[in-house]
Amino acid sequence: MKAKRFFALLCAVLCLSTGTAFAAAPRVVASTHKVQVNGAAVTPQAYNIDGYNYFKLRDIAYLLSGTTSTFDVKWNSAAKTINMVTGSKYTAVGGEMEKQSAGTLKVQASTAKVTMDGKAVSVKGYNINGNNYYKIADVASEIGFTAAFESASRTVMIHTPEPEPEPEPTPTPKPDPEPEPEPEPEPEPRTSQLDGKITVILDPGHGGSDGGANNKELDLDEKHVNLYVSKYLQQYLEDEGVTVIMVRDTLEEGSSLTLRKTVMEKYQDSVDLFFSVHHNSFNTQARGAQILAQISDEDGGPTKVLAELLNEEYEKLGLSIRPIWFRHGDNGDYYYTNRVAAELQIPALTSEFCFIDNNEDAAYIDSEEDWQAEARAQCNAIMRYFDQVEY
Ligand SMILES: [Zn+2]
Repeated sequence: MKAKRFFALLCAVLCLSTGTAFAAAPRVVASTHKVQVNGAAVTPQAYNIDGYNYFKLRDIAYLLSGTTSTFDVKWNSAAKTINMVTGSKYTAVGGEMEKQSAGTLKVQASTAKVTMDGKAVSVKGYNINGNNYYKIADVASEIGFTAAFESASRTVMIHTPEPEPEPEPTPTPKPDPEPEPEPEPEPEPRTSQLDGKITVILDPGHGGSDGGANNKELDLDEKHVNLYVSKYLQQYLEDEGVTVIMVRDTLEEGSSLTLRKTVMEKYQDSVDLFFSVHHNSFNTQARGAQILAQISDEDGGPTKVLAELLNEEYEKLGLSIRPIWFRHGDNGDYYYTNRVAAELQIPALTSEFCFIDNNEDAAYIDSEEDWQAEARAQCNAIMRYFDQVEY
């Protein structure tokens, strides 16, 4: 290595390791860009710092409350930590969307820590005149929405993902007629799930009128791909001696989310795992495998074990791996099947193998061989899982 290059490199390393000592003061101006949330114009206070837009977390939370990216903001003054609670509606504290009066800007690097559901996240922040402002691009990638800048209209376009289909309302059951008094039956022992037999409910996500996510360009949709992969997975698991119960066998069934609950209830005494096969979509840019596990396992537990094994198997196929998602909702797990299964004490997770709307990711699911490879990876992970947990 030539000496000059070596010293340039050494300086780069030193500059990085000594942090901000060598960094120039940021250029800060009130942002003149327009802002839209899901197409509606909004006017939060924003600053442009070194060319990037920064917003108050509370303004973003206020604007996204009730969307699929809804989150609450909690300040822990003892720990000087701002916690973003995903899946929760925003609790207003007053002062949201207030405009700063023009005048001198006192700018410092923000000293507050930022966490999401208690876990540290990296979002760049500055304190301007006493308020913390965060880089919208960083917040977007942590929470899971998009914030794209459209230069023609000079607008920051914030978009939240399409909502997952809501479960159909359960019809209120008609009251049963008074039963004839019967002699007390002998108490029957509840069949234990620990029966030495592996029973898996396999849920090819979506179906019927619900096609799920799609990639129009490549003519792929979840209704088809989820079923094709699940059929191979069923075959591979059955070859291993596993009893497999399919939520749907055909393309016509499956539009109702509550069908999943019905199947779980029917087999709740024997089932060891509810496994839901899905493929993700977001903004055509996002990529990678993502497992949605049950929040009861956030600190360890069966679905976290299986999620980690799946990630190992998916990584072997060349996919990038996204963090396991333990998403909290108002009544427990955010995702319907994870929540219903948790109520029935059934370990359940959803595998989002790749992003169907991203053409590079979709190359992993556009052939018969791909569906076999995905199913083989899932079968490997499930069988390794049952080496570790009781059934
Ligand atoms: Zn899906």
